Amino acid sequence: MLYSKYFLPTTKEDPAEAEIISHKLMLRSGMIRKLSAGIYTYLPLGLKSIRKVEKIVREEMNKAGAIELLMPSIQPAEIWETSGRWDFYGKELLRVKDRHSRNYCIGPTHEEVITDLVKNDVHSYRQLPLNLYQIQTKFRDEVRPRFGVMRGREFIMKDAYSFDRDEEGAEESYWKMHAAYCSIFKRLGLEYKVVEADTGSIGGNFSHEFMVLADTGEDQIVSCNLCDYAANLEKAEIKQDLKTPFQEQLLSIEQIQQIHTPDKRTINEVSSYLGKSPKDLIKTMIFIADKEPVAAIIQGNHEINHAKLKNILNVDMLETATLKEVKDATGCEPGFIGPVDLKIRIIADNSLKSMNNFITGANKKDYHLKNINTERDLKVETFADIRNAETGDLCPRCNGVLTFKKGIEVGHIFKLGTKYSQKMSASFLDQNGKGKHIIMGCYGIGITRIVAAAIEQGHDKDGIIFPDSIAPFNVIIIPITVKPGQAIDKAISLYNELTAAGIDVLLDDRNERPGIKFKDADLTGIPCRITVGDKGLARGILELKTRNQDNITEIPIEKAIEIIMEKVTLNI
Ligand code: ATP
Ligand code: MG
Repeated sequence: MLYSKYFLPTTKEDPAEAEIISHKLMLRSGMIRKLSAGIYTYLPLGLKSIRKVEKIVREEMNKAGAIELLMPSIQPAEIWETSGRWDFYGKELLRVKDRHSRNYCIGPTHEEVITDLVKNDVHSYRQLPLNLYQIQTKFRDEVRPRFGVMRGREFIMKDAYSFDRDEEGAEESYWKMHAAYCSIFKRLGLEYKVVEADTGSIGGNFSHEFMVLADTGEDQIVSCNLCDYAANLEKAEIKQDLKTPFQEQLLSIEQIQQIHTPDKRTINEVSSYLGKSPKDLIKTMIFIADKEPVAAIIQGNHEINHAKLKNILNVDMLETATLKEVKDATGCEPGFIGPVDLKIRIIADNSLKSMNNFITGANKKDYHLKNINTERDLKVETFADIRNAETGDLCPRCNGVLTFKKGIEVGHIFKLGTKYSQKMSASFLDQNGKGKHIIMGCYGIGITRIVAAAIEQGHDKDGIIFPDSIAPFNVIIIPITVKPGQAIDKAISLYNELTAAGIDVLLDDRNERPGIKFKDADLTGIPCRITVGDKGLARGILELKTRNQDNITEIPIEKAIEIIMEKVTLNI
């Protein structure tokens, strides 16, 4: 590609709208432009990187036996009603009506479409197993689209769906995808970690997320400092420490006392007003679980874990109660709610089992209660692990301690079981002519998010440092001058030879100062830069600089192609 004929609008200034480095650099290097919140045009340079990610994903998916197809992005409401998700999916599902007032949505995912397809065309065990995938544009009306294509509303995803005859086959399909994903992220050259993720009502240990490690990641990765246990924050289990500090305290059990706490609502307000620590307080939160109010109680210094609570309650919907729902359920306003004499179900975190003499809301405005003791004063329905893991918590698998890192979720694999095949009647006849529901799995990779994640991992003050696998071009050739002469002639002949050898080359033939060209080369992150100047040519050399190293090496002209080819193919 000739730079002068290309569309590569780079900018010097940091765009004000961008908070994280990948977003800034993707805008500055002319990879993307925003059309609307979370909706981006992929400019030629951005699209080239996207296509490279897609190529690797496609190759590894095909190698693993998955077969590509392409499904529509507009999906009729009926299939979502059949699966039961039309009502459950919430506001992320962008719903539209056609001219006949029929309901449709813009696909955020394709379980319904693929199950509908397979249900109609797969009838016999002989057609199974089957794994179908697509690379396609999704739409999710994210509550907070941000960070450019990292959390867009419109984005490209690879989604695959496996169909199996039995549990054994489904598990095999799952681990095949697990292995394919590891190959994909390895080939992409990303530093990643596989973590256990929540399986919700499906259960089992068949959900993993693939996380690219980066400080700007929105996800918390919890891992053990000794063994290989790793999970996302939603899933991370906590080993019950039998020697909690509360047991060690052996406090004498005191009588309940009501205390006046005017206008003190939050854990911090109450604890500092009473000169106590947040861990001496109990937080009571009211949720609506499948329409029924439920109270969840945890120690004041902990955070509730929504996924764990939802699993314990075994419900389809779990939402934080609105102000009115809190008042209806407790007769009191938030800030002063407590578990004593509460008329609704109470789920308590395990750590409360052994707490003595704690403080909690009195279910009366401006009052709290002190000296509450779980056994004596509360009617707890279930004790369970319903809080987030925290620094210092113990590993559920060994004697290690849990540590925390930030990550970007770039892939997610999940065993669906018969969740969709049952609801949508996707079944087959087995060897004995018996009808069975197909066992499914689903496997997503965020293609556009991967490009952003790679930039979060690879950049410096001058711009992007792409791994070879994702770089839009492998090589950029910069002639010091484009005036007719040796330098531009040599640059063109190099360009032609490398291009003919299948290497993606950008020839910066703009009539600009070398400094400007070097800056743009650094900004766009092209791994290998070749500078061609008259002085060097006179000495029989070209200059080679790789984007991830500072030093410039001189290479002999006659060996240039060979050396460059080595550099380019080496790291992929
Ligand atoms: P997140 O927790 O980040 O919202 P998710 O759990 O909703 O992700 P999945 O439904 O598993 O994501 O989708 C598969 C993959 O698609 C994710 O692993 C991620 O890489 C990508 N993805 C999901 N939402 C977005 C988005 N809004 N923008 C870009 N990529 C996304
Ligand atoms: Mg999401």
